[in-house]
Amino acid sequence: MKKNKLRIVVSSGPTREPIDPVRFISNYSTGVLGYKIAEIAQKKGHKVVLVSGPVDLKKPQGIKLIKVETAREMKKVLLSSLKNSDCLIMNAAVCDYRPLKFSRQKLKKENKGLHIELVENPDILKALSSKKANRLMVGFALETENLFNNAFLKLKKKKLDLIVGIKAGRYNSPFGLSKISPWIIDKTGGCEKLSNITKQKLSQKLLDRIEGLWYTKIQS
Ligand code: C5P
Repeated sequence: MKKNKLRIVVSSGPTREPIDPVRFISNYSTGVLGYKIAEIAQKKGHKVVLVSGPVDLKKPQGIKLIKVETAREMKKVLLSSLKNSDCLIMNAAVCDYRPLKFSRQKLKKENKGLHIELVENPDILKALSSKKANRLMVGFALETENLFNNAFLKLKKKKLDLIVGIKAGRYNSPFGLSKISPWIIDKTGGCEKLSNITKQKLSQKLLDRIEGLWYTKIQS
């Protein structure tokens, strides 16, 4: 493989945290952005592994796709995929919590209401950042307020090279095929503000930035 081509792992989609055989906790992520990033990275000549939560999308051609369901499954797969990679693009909307207990039987309706105890899921990106080595790591931050501050704090905490901050609101849904206004923030606090662009355009921009960072790394 040429020096300027990367082995990229992309995570995408939501995770699903089962409650009982017919119910789960999840979020609105559709996987559209992660799949687009994977597809464009592959077209640019990079070697791509896509680790995806449950989504309703076609497998992009020429890409190794590994399907997972829960956050803990995703962590396990990413830990092993990371070994042969130069870059991780962590686009998955990992559920922060999961039910403490999985009920083998369907939970029955009760008059008292239903209480499900939740426990925290592992922060995958934070755990992987301790194995960063020479890799590039990119995260995403979906925020309803203080976009820059919240996203930049996550970049620092998770030792990322870049983070893409995206604003979400009731009248401003970033899910599915919507256009978005993402901010690409780097380690120095530099912020490229993009306005009302497609996920295709964001994927191209982001991969250009990653290629630039990689080029600087291999020169030094
Ligand atoms: O949930 P949060 O806003 O902290 O997510 C920021 C980044 O961390 C995202 O790239 C997301 O994929 C990642 N993340 C993770 N494990 C979690 C929660 C988030 O890797 N449990």
